Amino acid sequence: EAFNVAVEKASALNAFIVTTPDHALAAADAVDAKRAKGEDLGKMGGVPIGMKDLFCTDGVQTTAASHILEGFVPRYESTVSQKLWEAGAGMLGKLNLDQFAMGSSNETSYFGNVSSPWKKAGTNAAMSPGGSSGGSSAAVAARIAPAATGTDTGGSIRQPAAFAGITGIKPTYGRCSRWGVVAFASSLDQAGPMARSVEDCAIMLEAMAGFDPKDATSLQMDVPNWEAALDADLKGKRIGIPREYRMDGTDAEILSSWEQGKEWLRDAGAEIVDIALPHTKYALPAYYIIAPAEASSNLARYDGVRYGLRDLPDGAGLQDMYAATRADGFGDEVKRRILIGTYVLSAGFYDAYYTQAQKVRALVARDFENAWSQCDAILAPTTPTASFPLGSLNDDPLTMYLNDVFAVPASLAGLPAMSVPAGLNADGLPLGLQIVGKPFDEQGVLNAGL
Ligand code: GLN
Repeated sequence: EAFNVAVEKASALNAFIVTTPDHALAAADAVDAKRAKGEDLGKMGGVPIGMKDLFCTDGVQTTAASHILEGFVPRYESTVSQKLWEAGAGMLGKLNLDQFAMGSSNETSYFGNVSSPWKKAGTNAAMSPGGSSGGSSAAVAARIAPAATGTDTGGSIRQPAAFAGITGIKPTYGRCSRWGVVAFASSLDQAGPMARSVEDCAIMLEAMAGFDPKDATSLQMDVPNWEAALDADLKGKRIGIPREYRMDGTDAEILSSWEQGKEWLRDAGAEIVDIALPHTKYALPAYYIIAPAEASSNLARYDGVRYGLRDLPDGAGLQDMYAATRADGFGDEVKRRILIGTYVLSAGFYDAYYTQAQKVRALVARDFENAWSQCDAILAPTTPTASFPLGSLNDDPLTMYLNDVFAVPASLAGLPAMSVPAGLNADGLPLGLQIVGKPFDEQGVLNAGL
């Protein structure tokens, strides 16, 4: 019954692409059986979660919110989802997202926009839940699911968490296996939890993380018990405030919530220090070369032969089938990324764009390495604005891309970063603050967020 109420709420927001009540119920039954036998229930025993539809799930359609994967039913389970089931969780359904995780508003999905449960005070316009993990943020914010998986390539866990007033952490690159996760930009893609509290994120991240021989970039490190070491006392910790994040055009309300964040951390015992991350302004342009370049290569596999959609016009040959399938199957934003990616990788422009962007990436990473001699973690806004009405940025991809201006540097450097709720703005919309940590220091990030 509770499930049906949730389904109604979820369909009003268009948060799910498919629902899987039997999966969640089986996990609940398994917990009952274990309890009856006095067995350990597992880290997430019986918890019904939402699964971003970028994770392959055995026997359950997996689309990446693209027409080109419609009808694709994997015969295998992603490592991250498998680990969650082993920890006792169950699946409510596959959550909507921006197509192939490309977007910041959940408007590029083939299966329609996702609405945020939040409204701007005094208006009734449907607001963006952020993206690309917008089904995840909407479902958790609307209390349809206590937690959901997300993926973050350049902000797609943190920005939707900020827009929806929830918590989300992108761990250090390599903590969570990418095996069985539909690839966008492989050197950046990371899975992570989205939930209502830092505590819930700590528990869920522990279930998701861990070395996986099937992912060549998986970290060979033990997964700490983050939950057990949560500690809100920040005495002796130095929190860096990067001066380059005060950008022109950042809303006053964002700057004042940043000030508020400093106060909270000072009250918790931390020392606030100014730091410099001089290459910050080059991070977003470099991201929009590297991510599309990798995407254009990763998306070459959708050819109408191996997965989902196949368009085979009458009398068509192989090339015609590729062209027809890809023209029909990919959305406009995905095509834009493929075009940019193939351009920057082309023989004539490779050095001018791709090589240059890789150099910038190294400089951005070095900025952070230098900063760690002065601070233990960094506090910054998550986004330059609060959520916006659906449809309001559709003709303006550059402003849309700017949503991730504060999120992308940590992505390029592979660092753990989390967004936590930081109250509401004057319009009653949530704002988020971001904590970026040293490599492998999810604990420091979680503790500062607590
Ligand atoms: N919004 C960014 C993009 O469109 C980030 C997406 C992501 O992290 N998956 O590329």
